[in-house]
Amino acid sequence: MVNCDICGHLGDHKVVLAKSIAQAVQKGFNPYSAGLIPDMLQSLGLGTAYDAWRVSATEGHLSKADWHICENCMLTLHPFL
Ligand SMILES: [Zn+2]
Repeated sequence: MVNCDICGHLGDHKVVLAKSIAQAVQKGFNPYSAGLIPDMLQSLGLGTAYDAWRVSATEGHLSKADWHICENCMLTLHPFL
């Protein structure tokens, strides 16, 4: 059991390569506008939080390790993979 790296949901999630996530983000995958990020995190400021996340997911800290993605987030992510 692991936490989904997008929404934090606990479960048996699929592993998606960090490189694939970075490409999906470059193609326009935005978990913030898709409503996948919990409200608590959204309250930090939607634009600012997404900008920081996008940089991290494509070239920063989040791009260094593979991601665990839950079924729900995968539905939104899949078209971008
Ligand atoms: Zn999720």
